[in-house]
Amino acid sequence: MAGGEPKPVGVAADGSLPLPWLREPLTQALRLDRSHALLVHAPQNVGQLELALALAQAWLCEQPEHRPCGHCNACRLVRQRSHPDLRIVVPEALRLQFEWLGDDDPLLRASAKPSREIKIEQVREATEWTQRSAGSSRGRALVMYPAEAVNPSAANALLKTLEEPPGRLRIVMAGGDPEHLLPTLRSRVQRVRIATPAATQVLAWLDAQGVAQASRALAVAGGSPLAALALHEAGLDEQVLGELPAAVARGDAQALLGKPLPMVIDLLQRVAHDAMARAAGAAALFFDPAQVPPGAALPLLVAWQRELLRVARHDEHPWHAPLLVEALVTKGAGCWPGAAAAAHRSRGHSLHSAG
Ligand SMILES: [Zn+2]
Repeated sequence: MAGGEPKPVGVAADGSLPLPWLREPLTQALRLDRSHALLVHAPQNVGQLELALALAQAWLCEQPEHRPCGHCNACRLVRQRSHPDLRIVVPEALRLQFEWLGDDDPLLRASAKPSREIKIEQVREATEWTQRSAGSSRGRALVMYPAEAVNPSAANALLKTLEEPPGRLRIVMAGGDPEHLLPTLRSRVQRVRIATPAATQVLAWLDAQGVAQASRALAVAGGSPLAALALHEAGLDEQVLGELPAAVARGDAQALLGKPLPMVIDLLQRVAHDAMARAAGAAALFFDPAQVPPGAALPLLVAWQRELLRVARHDEHPWHAPLLVEALVTKGAGCWPGAAAAAHRSRGHSLHSAG
């Protein structure tokens, strides 16, 4: 595993928030102090998990006011994710991505396939934990993310705990559009929507993280500041992103090799979206319209989109899958019959030598 220790979570020792735009939704969520089950949500990833963890930190904080303080013993333990009264439930694939791994973690064994769902075993384990007596007078906090990853049997196992949380348990689920949540869960949580942060605030934050001139990355990331930062950290800078639609159209997967598969699929879905928009005479949403090659065939784009969706839903793929990425890009290039042929010629292959 690269990168050393995982980043601490929650509010820092100096009281600063992990993301500056979470102040208002945190205050709003803390006002709902009689709700024992909350859903913090936003259509894009603007830091729902970060908010849920800051909220759990506030619930467990030992200070009489201005919770979470960030520096009391409880806050410190939450920051390290080691507070005995905090339980965080995420899919295995996210534990791998965040590097939240224990010693001799079964996920590190080659045979283990990381799931992208929150499974019934995880919920059972968490609900058993909630039955045991709470350690501190502040009660317990259960954080689940992403809420829409809770599969139906896991949701059923969770219903009783959501309706009648034992002791002083409080639950916060974090996720995307509540419409994607199972209705049984949706009806049992109080919602807190995180408003989309202002672009100026996001761009200033990205700049402070070392992502200068991030407006293209932010557009390509569908407006999610965290996804824009992830693109930067994966080495996909402004220029690479700008040239991506043309690269895909000529079947060049180079820029995407070695990147996490979910990121690659998101990017290809956005290329497909903008190519469709262009083919239909509408405006591109993610990429610079001038850099989306014209001439793609709509029916082929539809088939490519469908294939991308199918792969996105499939749980079995490894995190990095170069052959799969090559195949998806090749299929994408097939949507631009002219561009692929031109690239073929420019690589020096003639029809004769190709046989
Ligand atoms: Zn504290």
